[in-house]
Amino acid sequence: MTDSDTNDGDAERERVSVPNEVEFPRMLDFYELQTEDQTQIHEFYDNLRDGQLTTTQCRDCDEIHFPPRIVCPECTGDDLEYVDLPHEGELFAFSEVRGGLPIGLSEHEVPYVVAVVDLGPVRLSGRVDGAAYSDLEIGDSVSLKIVEIDGPTDEERVFYRFEATDTTTDGDSQ
Ligand SMILES: [Zn+2]
Repeated sequence: MTDSDTNDGDAERERVSVPNEVEFPRMLDFYELQTEDQTQIHEFYDNLRDGQLTTTQCRDCDEIHFPPRIVCPECTGDDLEYVDLPHEGELFAFSEVRGGLPIGLSEHEVPYVVAVVDLGPVRLSGRVDGAAYSDLEIGDSVSLKIVEIDGPTDEERVFYRFEATDTTTDGDSQ
Protein backbone atom coordinates (compact mmCIF):
# COMPACT_ATOMS: atom_id res chain seq x y z
CA MET A 1 0.00 0.00 0.00
CA THR A 2 1.39 3.45 -0.91
CA ASP A 3 0.94 6.90 0.67
CA SER A 4 -1.24 8.10 -2.16
CA ASP A 5 -3.63 5.15 -1.67
CA THR A 6 -4.30 5.93 2.00
CA ASN A 7 -4.60 9.69 1.39
CA ASP A 8 -7.27 9.13 -1.24
CA GLY A 9 -9.19 6.95 1.17
CA ASP A 10 -9.06 9.48 4.02
CA ALA A 11 -10.39 12.26 1.84
CA GLU A 12 -13.58 10.32 1.10
CA ARG A 13 -14.33 9.15 4.62
CA GLU A 14 -16.99 10.67 6.79
CA ARG A 15 -16.50 10.55 10.54
CA VAL A 16 -19.11 9.02 12.80
CA SER A 17 -19.05 8.98 16.57
CA VAL A 18 -20.28 6.73 19.34
CA PRO A 19 -21.46 8.36 22.58
CA ASN A 20 -19.49 7.59 25.74
CA GLU A 21 -22.68 7.26 27.73
CA VAL A 22 -26.25 6.39 26.85
CA GLU A 23 -29.04 7.80 28.99
CA PHE A 24 -30.96 5.06 30.72
CA PRO A 25 -34.20 4.74 28.77
CA ARG A 26 -37.44 4.82 30.76
CA MET A 27 -38.74 1.83 28.78
CA LEU A 28 -36.11 -0.38 30.42
CA ASP A 29 -37.22 0.68 33.90
CA PHE A 30 -39.42 -2.19 34.97
CA TYR A 31 -40.44 -0.69 38.33
CA GLU A 32 -43.93 0.74 38.33
CA LEU A 33 -44.53 4.46 38.76
CA GLN A 34 -45.95 4.81 42.23
CA THR A 35 -47.84 8.05 42.83
CA GLU A 36 -51.60 8.53 43.06
CA ASP A 37 -51.90 9.97 39.56
CA GLN A 38 -49.82 7.12 38.08
CA THR A 39 -51.25 3.97 39.62
CA GLN A 40 -54.46 2.99 41.34
CA ILE A 41 -52.50 0.80 43.77
CA HIS A 42 -50.41 3.74 45.01
CA GLU A 43 -51.49 2.93 48.58
CA PHE A 44 -49.39 -0.25 48.37
CA TYR A 45 -46.31 1.87 47.62
CA ASP A 46 -47.24 4.54 50.19
CA ASN A 47 -47.39 1.81 52.84
CA LEU A 48 -44.17 0.22 51.61
CA ARG A 49 -42.42 3.59 51.76
CA ASP A 50 -43.59 3.75 55.40
CA GLY A 51 -42.05 0.33 56.02
CA GLN A 52 -45.14 -1.85 55.83
CA LEU A 53 -45.86 -4.57 53.25
CA THR A 54 -49.59 -4.59 52.51
CA THR A 55 -52.05 -5.90 49.98
CA THR A 56 -55.75 -5.75 49.25
CA GLN A 57 -58.46 -7.84 50.86
CA CYS A 58 -62.02 -8.02 49.56
CA ARG A 59 -64.63 -6.87 52.09
CA ASP A 60 -67.29 -8.88 50.27
CA CYS A 61 -65.67 -12.34 50.00
CA ASP A 62 -62.60 -11.92 52.30
CA GLU A 63 -60.18 -13.00 49.57
CA ILE A 64 -56.65 -11.66 50.03
CA HIS A 65 -54.86 -10.86 46.77
CA PHE A 66 -51.31 -10.35 45.68
CA PRO A 67 -50.42 -8.19 43.88
CA PRO A 68 -52.91 -5.63 45.18
CA ARG A 69 -56.04 -5.22 43.06
CA ILE A 70 -58.62 -2.59 42.34
CA VAL A 71 -61.29 -5.23 41.61
CA CYS A 72 -61.57 -8.59 43.37
CA PRO A 73 -60.69 -11.40 40.93
CA GLU A 74 -62.87 -13.82 42.95
CA CYS A 75 -66.19 -11.97 43.17
CA THR A 76 -65.56 -8.90 40.93
CA GLY A 77 -66.47 -6.64 43.84
CA ASP A 78 -64.55 -3.40 44.25
CA ASP A 79 -64.94 -2.87 47.99
CA LEU A 80 -61.33 -3.60 48.90
CA GLU A 81 -59.18 -2.59 51.85
CA TYR A 82 -55.44 -2.64 52.44
CA VAL A 83 -54.29 -5.12 55.06
CA ASP A 84 -50.85 -5.76 56.57
CA LEU A 85 -48.87 -8.80 55.44
CA PRO A 86 -46.31 -10.58 57.64
CA HIS A 87 -42.73 -9.45 57.11
CA GLU A 88 -41.37 -12.94 57.77
CA GLY A 89 -41.88 -15.89 55.48
CA GLU A 90 -40.23 -18.94 54.08
CA LEU A 91 -38.89 -20.05 50.74
CA PHE A 92 -41.52 -21.92 48.76
CA ALA A 93 -39.32 -22.13 45.65
CA PHE A 94 -36.20 -20.37 44.46
CA SER A 95 -33.87 -20.06 41.52
CA GLU A 96 -30.77 -18.18 40.48
CA VAL A 97 -30.51 -15.45 37.84
CA ARG A 98 -27.20 -15.69 36.01
CA GLY A 99 -27.59 -13.23 33.14
CA GLY A 100 -29.86 -11.44 30.73
CA LEU A 101 -30.27 -8.24 32.76
CA PRO A 102 -31.44 -5.04 31.06
CA ILE A 103 -28.73 -2.49 30.24
CA GLY A 104 -27.97 -0.15 33.12
CA LEU A 105 -28.95 -2.40 35.99
CA SER A 106 -25.39 -2.48 37.23
CA GLU A 107 -26.48 -2.95 40.84
CA HIS A 108 -27.95 -6.28 39.82
CA GLU A 109 -24.69 -8.12 39.82
CA VAL A 110 -25.30 -11.64 38.73
CA PRO A 111 -25.79 -14.20 39.98
CA TYR A 112 -28.60 -13.39 42.41
CA VAL A 113 -31.46 -15.37 43.86
CA VAL A 114 -35.16 -14.95 43.10
CA ALA A 115 -37.79 -16.85 45.04
CA VAL A 116 -41.44 -17.48 45.62
CA VAL A 117 -41.89 -16.61 49.29
CA ASP A 118 -44.74 -17.99 51.38
CA LEU A 119 -45.88 -15.28 53.79
CA GLY A 120 -48.91 -17.24 54.99
CA PRO A 121 -51.83 -15.25 53.54
CA VAL A 122 -50.13 -14.97 50.14
CA ARG A 123 -47.17 -16.23 48.14
CA LEU A 124 -45.21 -13.68 46.16
CA SER A 125 -42.06 -13.61 44.13
CA GLY A 126 -39.09 -11.42 44.89
CA ARG A 127 -35.36 -11.14 44.96
CA VAL A 128 -33.54 -12.70 47.92
CA ASP A 129 -30.41 -10.95 49.20
CA GLY A 130 -27.85 -12.12 51.70
CA ALA A 131 -27.34 -15.67 50.50
CA ALA A 132 -26.07 -17.58 47.52
CA TYR A 133 -28.24 -20.13 45.74
CA SER A 134 -26.15 -22.97 47.11
CA ASP A 135 -26.71 -21.77 50.71
CA LEU A 136 -30.50 -21.93 50.49
CA GLU A 137 -33.07 -24.65 51.00
CA ILE A 138 -36.83 -24.82 50.56
CA GLY A 139 -38.40 -23.72 53.85
CA ASP A 140 -35.58 -21.36 54.86
CA SER A 141 -36.72 -18.21 56.67
CA VAL A 142 -36.59 -14.86 54.92
CA SER A 143 -37.60 -11.40 56.06
CA LEU A 144 -38.80 -8.32 54.21
CA LYS A 145 -36.23 -5.85 52.96
CA ILE A 146 -37.25 -2.53 51.39
CA VAL A 147 -34.96 -0.91 48.86
CA GLU A 148 -35.02 2.58 47.36
CA ILE A 149 -34.86 2.88 43.59
CA ASP A 150 -32.59 5.43 41.93
CA GLY A 151 -33.61 6.96 38.58
CA PRO A 152 -34.52 7.28 35.75
CA THR A 153 -37.39 9.29 37.24
CA ASP A 154 -36.93 11.97 39.92
CA GLU A 155 -39.51 10.30 42.12
CA GLU A 156 -38.84 8.59 45.41
CA ARG A 157 -39.63 4.99 44.71
CA VAL A 158 -39.27 1.85 46.78
CA PHE A 159 -39.59 -1.85 46.17
CA TYR A 160 -39.58 -5.00 48.25
CA ARG A 161 -37.03 -7.76 48.41
CA PHE A 162 -36.29 -10.45 50.96
CA GLU A 163 -33.26 -11.17 53.06
CA ALA A 164 -32.22 -14.69 54.00
CA THR A 165 -32.22 -15.03 57.77
CA ASP A 166 -31.20 -18.61 58.55
CA THR A 167 -28.78 -19.77 55.91
CA THR A 168 -26.59 -22.69 56.84
CA THR A 169 -23.36 -21.33 55.42
CA ASP A 170 -21.19 -23.50 57.65
CA GLY A 171 -22.46 -26.88 56.57
CA ASP A 172 -25.49 -29.07 57.15
CA SER A 173 -26.16 -27.80 60.63
CA GLN A 174 -29.96 -27.83 60.44
ZN1 LIG B 1 -64.20 -10.60 46.54
